[in-house]
Amino acid sequence: MRKIILTVIIVAAVLVAGVIYFTYDPSKEGNLFPRCIFVTLTGFKCPGCGSQRAIHALLHGDILTAAHYNAAMLVGIPLAMAYGIAEWKRTTWQRYYMAMNNRWVLMALLVAIMLWWVLRNIFGL
Ligand SMILES: [Zn+2]
Repeated sequence: MRKIILTVIIVAAVLVAGVIYFTYDPSKEGNLFPRCIFVTLTGFKCPGCGSQRAIHALLHGDILTAAHYNAAMLVGIPLAMAYGIAEWKRTTWQRYYMAMNNRWVLMALLVAIMLWWVLRNIFGL
């Protein structure tokens, strides 16, 4: 029962966020959306910078604009969904859960995020 309630809450939160990000454009109505603390403090982009604008573009079917704002989101969203499924099916699909949470997979993911973080600040991605 707890799992069903949690699933309903998460799905509802994603739907509400989806409606908000579809309706409002973070590039035009920036004061409605939280600004990245890292870029505010350092002037450098974090791995997630541009995600809100990218999600808005994706929800409008504009993949190129989404890639312009944050190309990693094009990989990150399906990956987050894959991890959500892994967590949701943790007890009934243990093999998938274990594969997704394998230490080498997680290490590769961490390295990819760190590389994205550095490269986007060097090349202005
Ligand atoms: Zn950021």
